[in-house]
Amino acid sequence: MSKIAMSELLQDAAKRGYAVPCFNAINLDMIRGIIEAAEQEQSPVILCHAEIHFKYTPLEMIAPIMVDAMHRAKVPVSILLDHGKSFSAVMKAMSLGFNAIMFDGSEYAYEENVRRTSEVVKIAKELDVSVEGELGYVTRPKSGGAEGEDDDSIIDDISLYTDPQQAREFVERTGIHALAAAFGTVHGVYLKKPELDLNRLDQITRTAGVPIVMHGGSGLSDEDFQQTIDRGVAKINYYTGMAHKVVDRTKQRLLQADDNLFYHEHMMQVIGDFREDAARVMRTFRSSNRA
Ligand SMILES: [Zn+2]
Repeated sequence: MSKIAMSELLQDAAKRGYAVPCFNAINLDMIRGIIEAAEQEQSPVILCHAEIHFKYTPLEMIAPIMVDAMHRAKVPVSILLDHGKSFSAVMKAMSLGFNAIMFDGSEYAYEENVRRTSEVVKIAKELDVSVEGELGYVTRPKSGGAEGEDDDSIIDDISLYTDPQQAREFVERTGIHALAAAFGTVHGVYLKKPELDLNRLDQITRTAGVPIVMHGGSGLSDEDFQQTIDRGVAKINYYTGMAHKVVDRTKQRLLQADDNLFYHEHMMQVIGDFREDAARVMRTFRSSNRA
């Protein structure tokens, strides 16, 4: 099966009522664990690398590994540049073989977001690359977020949520294949229980005309996930929860380990931890057995 257009993956998910999990995979252990989980669960999957993580893992270094993993996989896989903000990152990702781009123009004013997103779509379409745009703004609290740089004071600002009517116009004017919408989730670690605006999500799904993407899902309960999927979310980005869980497990294991532990043994255990959490997420998102 291997390589598949993200637009195709998300159309199927939207139609059949599940969400394709999109995992940030910043090293080989994560890539292997996630692909193993997808094959075990018979789930389609999206591997992504975020521009904000380039400082940990250069794009040029990990892209060939991601491309190879995509081609070898026995299940449908897309690879996506996550939160591409610079033109340079977008162009590099496409030239290195990524077949999907999440262009994040959400920090710009509406017209500028439309202009920049349209520019990316125009190039991407020529290369059969799917594009996800963002309208509204999913915040990233600085006191808990893994990549915090934003202001905590705007977390509850409803003016940052996606406007359903504007969503339709944004999709039509830019030509994007999927829309990241803001309706109450935040990136990174939740500082308090999230309140999802599910009515708004309903409206966005009905008006947008393309599959909806949810970012910032790590602090949600399984029930929250099910509700958003029932209301049309077809792709869910997941990183923070997994990143924390695997470190916790590793910490416990290393504290109990004897002195003869080798790095490669530890590495295989870490891959297993990523596999286990990714598989759990696939079952929650109902993407298991959809490959
Ligand atoms: Zn995100």
